[in-house]
Amino acid sequence: MCIFCDIISGKIPSSKVYEDDDVLAILDVSQVTFGHTLVMPKKHVADILEADEETVVKCAKVISKLSKQIVHNTGAAGCNVLNNCGEVAGQTVHHLHFHIIPRYSESDAVCFQFNESEKQNLAKVLEKVKG
Ligand code: 5GP
Ligand code: ZN
Repeated sequence: MCIFCDIISGKIPSSKVYEDDDVLAILDVSQVTFGHTLVMPKKHVADILEADEETVVKCAKVISKLSKQIVHNTGAAGCNVLNNCGEVAGQTVHHLHFHIIPRYSESDAVCFQFNESEKQNLAKVLEKVKG
């Protein structure tokens, strides 16, 4: 059972921002900021690591369109576009989705902090990351 599949099938009501054959965008019930929207594929896939490229591309096209539309229509000054992948990254609903969070000020109820951590040798990191 997946709550977003239930939303996609219409079993659970939602506030639809955008819909096509493959992608649905709805208002996030939490509204971290005014206009907070979730973009998801209609096909169930747990996260971006499991998703095929085509599914991600379809979502990306909708994110591109809606981020501009939402920022323009709400009068926001910018937005955060965010995907949480895995519980360790804060994912709570295991159906791939991307957050569009309009930003009005630096004191919005959103906090991303990129703290200084252990210094890394970038050459070693690159070798590992590129595989
Ligand atoms: P995650 O933490 O997995 O990246 O984000 C899940 C998001 O789904 C949360 O921001 C939460 O508010 C939202 N959410 C959970 N259940 C529902 C629901 O039933 N309807 C809507 N519209 N959003 C939901
Ligand atoms: Zn699902």
